[in-house]
Amino acid sequence: MGPLWVKLASVGIRPTRQRLELAEILFSAGDRHFTAEMIHGEARALRYPPSLGTVYNTLNQFVQNGLLREIALYDSKVWYDTNIGPHCHYYWEDTEELSDIPEEHAPTLNVPAPPGAKVTAIDVIVRVRAGVAPRECPMARFELFLK
Ligand SMILES: [Zn+2]
Repeated sequence: MGPLWVKLASVGIRPTRQRLELAEILFSAGDRHFTAEMIHGEARALRYPPSLGTVYNTLNQFVQNGLLREIALYDSKVWYDTNIGPHCHYYWEDTEELSDIPEEHAPTLNVPAPPGAKVTAIDVIVRVRAGVAPRECPMARFELFLK
């Protein structure tokens, strides 16, 4: 019984061959962000590749048992994160990727819960775009004008 078998069994998931193969894809490369479609694509290399439906079901089961965090983007697919601790994300609009905001740049939000409720999580997604040409600094033009 390997560490993945223990990881699944310890949260109450029966470690079937298919779940173990998907867990291998998800958890063997450190923390990562992905969609079900990405995992389905990677799983095509398996001897018995799972259907997209099976991938979805497995990911949802892993979320419900605390092995994955689900991240919903309002105009995109559901993303999953192997880092289940609290942290914030950049969403790269041009490449459609998620990455973690470094802890030192993460916003600290202190939002009170409505009466009778409690805040269970605050999800922050900062949408960014790479490859934008840097704007000309207005001071550069000013210095040119002075010469
Ligand atoms: Zn993350």
